[in-house]
Amino acid sequence: MKALSRICWPLVVAVGVSGCGTTYEIPSLGDTGTQRAKLLFEEGQQEGARRQLSDAAAQRRFQRVKAKVAPVGKAVCEHAAKDKADAVCDVDLAIDHSLNERNAYFTYKDNAPIIRVTMPLLKDSASDDEVAFVVGHEYGHLIGKHIEKQQQQAMVGALILGSIAVAAGASADYYDPNLVDASVALGAAAGSMAYSQSYELESDTVGTYIVHAAGYDPLDGAKFFARAEDAKTEAGKLSFWGTHPPDEKRVATVLATIERIENDIGLKKAE
Ligand SMILES: [Zn+2]
Repeated sequence: MKALSRICWPLVVAVGVSGCGTTYEIPSLGDTGTQRAKLLFEEGQQEGARRQLSDAAAQRRFQRVKAKVAPVGKAVCEHAAKDKADAVCDVDLAIDHSLNERNAYFTYKDNAPIIRVTMPLLKDSASDDEVAFVVGHEYGHLIGKHIEKQQQQAMVGALILGSIAVAAGASADYYDPNLVDASVALGAAAGSMAYSQSYELESDTVGTYIVHAAGYDPLDGAKFFARAEDAKTEAGKLSFWGTHPPDEKRVATVLATIERIENDIGLKKAE
């Protein structure tokens, strides 16, 4: 969000738009937990190259995870949207066979939500938990309404600062899914789009609830994000680790969310 996030709060005050905040509270940890997050993060950073799954095994893994995560993702989405008649929670969840790099993304296609996971990502996964966490995290972007909020911020920014200044700030991190129709271009655009860190942490929080309820280990899953990988793809675009910069805060958020789940505390709306 770079340029836009800097102008965000004055905008909220100026025009009463609440585009920047998260919908849900992002839980944080005490000192012991933070230390544990640091160790787990370092463990994730040290992991080297992995043995790759065969195409068939990767597809089987995706189908197993989809069968368990999709119904929970839909239920959480419907619960979150219960006051809004126009919310769409039926996600078209599938493998993106055209994007040839490790990536996963959520976007809208013809106004319907889609989540895609690429074959290279599936083949590089070490467990069903990892793929489940990636998918749960993408549901978090839908449920947190992150695309709508970024759209709203870009529009308000254009009104106040003039379109040139905002276009310069927004072009790197924002695109309008309705303007991108070819599936290859859609995957490349959606896969290289970066959200603000608070939206990423909100997606980790919501994703942790979904993945846990679907029967997976969110902590094991979150390690996929903690790996030390290049932020750019060979084509010079932001990679999955470029749009999801690995840091201790992500692991800490997942640990803190697990702590809440173990204490029977559900997703909490932000104040
Ligand atoms: Zn994300």
